[in-house]
Amino acid sequence: MTMKKHCRIILFFIIKCQLSIFNCSAQYPKDFFRSPLDIPLFLSGNFGELRSNHFHSGLDLKTQGVENMPVYAPADGYVSRIKIQAGGYGKALYVTHLNGYTTVYGHLNNFKENIATYLKEQQYKKESFEIELLPDSNLFRVRKGDVIAYSGNTGSSGGPHLHFEIRDSKTENVYNPLFFGFEVKDKTPPAITSLAVYNFDENTRKGPQNRKLYPVTKAEGKYVVNGGKPLVASGITGFGLEVYDQLDGADNKNGAYSIELLKDSSRIYYHKIDEMQFHLTRFINSHIDYEEKVLNKNAIQKSFVEPGNQLKIYETKISAGKTEIETGNKYKFNYIVKDVAGNISKLEFKIEGTVKSEMVMNESLAAKAFYFDSVNKFTSNDIELLMPDFALYRDIDFSYSVKPKTKQTYSAIHNIHKNTEPLQREYMLSIKPDSIPETINDKLLIVSFNSNNNPVSEGGKFENGTVTTKTKSFGSFAVMADTTKPKITPVNITRDGDLSAAKTIKVKISDNLSGIAFYRGSIDGRWVLMEYDSKNSLLTYTFDKSMSKGKHYFDLIVTDGKQNSGKYEAHFHR
Ligand SMILES: [Zn+2]
Repeated sequence: MTMKKHCRIILFFIIKCQLSIFNCSAQYPKDFFRSPLDIPLFLSGNFGELRSNHFHSGLDLKTQGVENMPVYAPADGYVSRIKIQAGGYGKALYVTHLNGYTTVYGHLNNFKENIATYLKEQQYKKESFEIELLPDSNLFRVRKGDVIAYSGNTGSSGGPHLHFEIRDSKTENVYNPLFFGFEVKDKTPPAITSLAVYNFDENTRKGPQNRKLYPVTKAEGKYVVNGGKPLVASGITGFGLEVYDQLDGADNKNGAYSIELLKDSSRIYYHKIDEMQFHLTRFINSHIDYEEKVLNKNAIQKSFVEPGNQLKIYETKISAGKTEIETGNKYKFNYIVKDVAGNISKLEFKIEGTVKSEMVMNESLAAKAFYFDSVNKFTSNDIELLMPDFALYRDIDFSYSVKPKTKQTYSAIHNIHKNTEPLQREYMLSIKPDSIPETINDKLLIVSFNSNNNPVSEGGKFENGTVTTKTKSFGSFAVMADTTKPKITPVNITRDGDLSAAKTIKVKISDNLSGIAFYRGSIDGRWVLMEYDSKNSLLTYTFDKSMSKGKHYFDLIVTDGKQNSGKYEAHFHR
């Protein structure tokens, strides 16, 4: 075979896979990796399930409610990365294998002894708990079945489990680990819980004009909407579905693998989640009905693709998925939902084309057209907004209004469009504060207000009379100042206390607005490793054997994002 012909065949296969027409799971090695745990596998989270601002990038393996389960190398390889964070994956380990894949372990408690020793040395050298290390390929070689780490609940984990990923070592694209032959029992089909029907005007670049939600119920093994009676719609119509998947032996509501929609037996929408790219994962906010998520916490997956959505999970062409419903006509629709084990659930429903009702246009104040593929700007007396192209997923009628300042704020409250419209990229926002005492200029920041109307820092800096920040959300914004130092609350240490039997020193730290930016704990004037668990606002120092008996001096400095510093110091006995 000539080189050219050979390439063409390979190219053809790649194109086929990218179009997602065929299931390409056949390309994954099925018996290369052993399980990273020595217990039967049950999942509290699966690949691709819907999370806040991302699709879940791996499997969450249950660890029987306990920590410190040994984690085994699933194949030969070497430790290529060690990353320690207060949030996120917490303590994480990456192992690169010889077949082009890298496996990732998150929320760990600890590492194999030689890795743990090396890590601690590096943390002391850098005087930082948070660290990222990229060891040389011959430093920590592992063999299939070696214990490499111990499971835990570190970082932003909500209970003991092992987060397990399989990535392409070069591109870092993540794949569904269940394609690699791990044994997870699943005879349970996905569940369908609600159907959304959307109506659009002629402009296909904009979002729907309205949405109706219908609960989906199960009767005699079949999913039914509206008691089996037809629903009505007219004009350009789109649909959405709320689903979840359960696996055998666990209550957790995980994600479904694929959703397909047929109109009178022809496919008008299809997506499946085989792999994910980290730079695209935030497009989940276009994939789901973001407004419904913000308002009612429902995760409806839309069965139409918005023009600015760049996810590669769709077979459907951009803007497809929407369909024309003609007055007086009847249509039969079928949803087919699958999990990765091949279990199927179906929902059949009928639509009757009704007479198009007059649209009520709700004109908002100062509406201005924003185009998703253009740079967008907005200026008024006290604010300036500059948004890069492709920050939006669709065109919007941008709205702006202003409310008077409150006692808390140093500016009016600016309502910048709606917090129900998602954004992919940051935009620049400047707000002019009222006359303020010059002494607090460097304490100013921009806040948004959460659903309880509490201020949340969006960061920012005062310069040339305005405070400027970058943000990825719309909503209400104002200028505030953070002049309060972080709070430090000792848990088990007291001034001149006896810690001779204690294994650790624990201290709680928190900040009211700008957040913890820096902390430094030391004993007898030397930096010591204090592990930071941000979800519990907890700093922990673990005594090591080198600490001599007698009197010692502990001190801790904590600084927030606006350079307000708190200090705690105590002598203790050991
Ligand atoms: Zn996870």
